[in-house]
Amino acid sequence: MPDFSRLELDEADLRALVAAALDRICGELRGLPGRAACVTEGGAALARSLREPLPRSGAPLPELLATIFERALPVSYTTTGPGYLAYIPGGGLLHAAVADLIADAINRYVGLWRAAPGLVQLESNVITWLCEIVGLPAGSGGVLTSGGSLANFSATVAARHRLGERFVDGTIYTSTQAHHSVLRAAILAGFPAAQVRAVEVDAQQRICLERLAEAIAGDRAAGLRPCMLVASAGTTNTGAVDDLEGMAGLAEREGLWLHVDAAYGGCFALTERGRATLRGLGRADSITLDPHKGLFLPYGTGALLVRDPAALRRAHSVHAEYLPPMQEDPDFVDFCELSPELSRDFRGLRLWLPLKLVGADGFAAALDEKLDLAAYAAGVLRGMPEVLLVAPPQLSLLVFRHVPARLGGDPAAQDDHNERLLAAINRRGRVFLTSTRLAGRFVLRICVLSFRTHRDRVDEGLVDISEAIAELG
Ligand SMILES: *Cc1c(COP(=O)(O)O)cnc(C)c1O
Repeated sequence: MPDFSRLELDEADLRALVAAALDRICGELRGLPGRAACVTEGGAALARSLREPLPRSGAPLPELLATIFERALPVSYTTTGPGYLAYIPGGGLLHAAVADLIADAINRYVGLWRAAPGLVQLESNVITWLCEIVGLPAGSGGVLTSGGSLANFSATVAARHRLGERFVDGTIYTSTQAHHSVLRAAILAGFPAAQVRAVEVDAQQRICLERLAEAIAGDRAAGLRPCMLVASAGTTNTGAVDDLEGMAGLAEREGLWLHVDAAYGGCFALTERGRATLRGLGRADSITLDPHKGLFLPYGTGALLVRDPAALRRAHSVHAEYLPPMQEDPDFVDFCELSPELSRDFRGLRLWLPLKLVGADGFAAALDEKLDLAAYAAGVLRGMPEVLLVAPPQLSLLVFRHVPARLGGDPAAQDDHNERLLAAINRRGRVFLTSTRLAGRFVLRICVLSFRTHRDRVDEGLVDISEAIAELG
């Protein structure tokens, strides 16, 4: 083994280091289909056993790789595996991992246009492509973020900017089903939490437009200043997509900023069915998209797309004497002016390389497969006795519960039963499902969004559900 304790690795060292890491990665990937979908036992003891003092000198690589791959990794949700149908699955495309290796090795600064105009252009291309996917017009722009939460935050800051410096009387409207990061974004942006209205939803968990209009009118009458609508394009609870055309019309009539939280659902706009479900998405002022969900990329890849990049810039730009002059050519962009971040990773390459290598059609086909799989699973569940499909898939997420007649109508007993059902399904280790509460009731969720999930694993999951039901009697 070469000596990796020098700061400057020579070429042979680097090759050996990457090769050793790659060996471990390949081993991990080979074992993935057979891994339990979720392992949590012994987590606290494991974490404690991994505590260690600051290392004063270098340790041998094999030992360190063993710590990562043999000790730390095994106790985890297998987020990259085919059985991960929990929460909103992430991805982990390997093309992106290689892009990260390149990005980190070249380590150019992409916050400032003039520091690497060509590399910044690659990231700008990615932004333009994402705008095209969601149907925003030419001239739109945006910024890559660490995820949907930060994108929702910057969108809120941009919307707030319209109110001027005194915005304490500003109000924001979303539904009871909105992701919690919407409320957090509003609080962090300085809005009183009580001025974020959680408007009720209809039977399909979509925001009720009449209630929304009433809330806006009521606030205006009370002297408050309505500022922003936040629509959901794929809620985390049930995958519900709000009436985006209806919300766009309302936002226009009321002069409000329309933000669409499409962190989960937005990438389905690559598919024909997705575009139909997401009709109106391109009319938004801003859109949150999570490529680490819908484009199967590694965690840490979100995007905020905006119709008017100048508005995003006005809301985030602060002058500093020690920085070079910012770009004024509308063809170019300094990303550090569009978000709270100054220094950051070259995350654009993590999208650019996979999109160029695979092509958008490859992603569209994979997303189409996820829509098919969710529809298929919904059909099978519908046919299972005493299984209630609480929310059929609008995209690739569905919600169900088991309501055995023997429990009568007792809600507490039913909730308890479904909680045990979830544990019995997950114990089998082939799929990992999670739960939520709808109108206070415990329900099970299936979200198909891993590029590694195919029909065989969905079938295994459905078998596990019916066997778990049988097991509970
Ligand atoms: C995942 C998600 C978020 C938060 O995104 P992060 O990338 O986890 O920060 C926000 N909204 C919705 C609808 C989501 O699914």
